[in-house]
Amino acid sequence: MAVYAAPVQDLIDELGRLPGVGPKSAQRIAFYLLKVSKEDALRLARSIAEVKDKVRFCAQCFNVSEGDRCGICADPRRDTTIVCVVEEPRDLVAVEKTGEFKGMYHVLQGAISPIEGVGPEQLRIRELLERIGTEGIEEVILCTNPNLEGEATALYLARLLKPLGLKVTRIASGLPVGGDLEYADELTLGRALEGRRDLDA
Ligand SMILES: [Zn+2]
Repeated sequence: MAVYAAPVQDLIDELGRLPGVGPKSAQRIAFYLLKVSKEDALRLARSIAEVKDKVRFCAQCFNVSEGDRCGICADPRRDTTIVCVVEEPRDLVAVEKTGEFKGMYHVLQGAISPIEGVGPEQLRIRELLERIGTEGIEEVILCTNPNLEGEATALYLARLLKPLGLKVTRIASGLPVGGDLEYADELTLGRALEGRRDLDA
């Protein structure tokens, strides 16, 4: 027999699907939502609906975007010969915040992770290769996270891109190993970008 009324259990199940939310947290959030005013709870529901309606992924770099192309891809002042490859839109934001990078981006929307069943074909790698063939890109900076998945992804991409005659670089170490780009402070990440080195693959 179910412990909770069906709608409550449904909510707990849905919340439990969110990244980083375990069963206990899902339960806590569900009961919090039951307690708050209807208005407050619906504001959350509406902002989820709105983001799904209005925001999509940029057709060029797969950053989040309100239009077909994101603000960065549409900006004519950006250097189109250099592309910074990141895992997620939040990493793009972290690099942007350094103010050190004036090129373009490519968001993979993840990293290679055999444990989580994510292979190269689940990432936007085919789209990256298409861009390289058509956009006059000369350098690719592999700006994936300095953890196992990020390093594996960088190595995979380096092996794929080097034979194409591109300059392939990796952000310098100095970032906390095992960490996430989004948590690196701007100065450290800026230095890591500046100190990027050629990747031998
Ligand atoms: Zn874009």
